[in-house]
Amino acid sequence: MNVVSTDERPGPVRTCLGCGKKQPKRLLHRLVLDERRQPVKDTAQTAPGRGAYLCGPGCLKAAVKKKAFQRAFKQSIELVVNDLEEALRT
Ligand SMILES: [Zn+2]
Repeated sequence: MNVVSTDERPGPVRTCLGCGKKQPKRLLHRLVLDERRQPVKDTAQTAPGRGAYLCGPGCLKAAVKKKAFQRAFKQSIELVVNDLEEALRT
């Protein structure tokens, strides 16, 4: 008699690069590489190509330390942490 409500479907889930926690995609910041190969926040969440996900600025440093960006984007990334950290605060 347990009917699953379609209103409570979790939706797509993504893993945060920093803490490795799985979260609903809508709660995470999506990052994509820009033309300078810098990870930038994909505000519209619709940029084409490979994306990476972070919960927030706290997880950014953890992700950098683990070189998670290199793995996510399959190339070496010269990350400007400050710019991205600022973007993740908003
Ligand atoms: Zn996280």
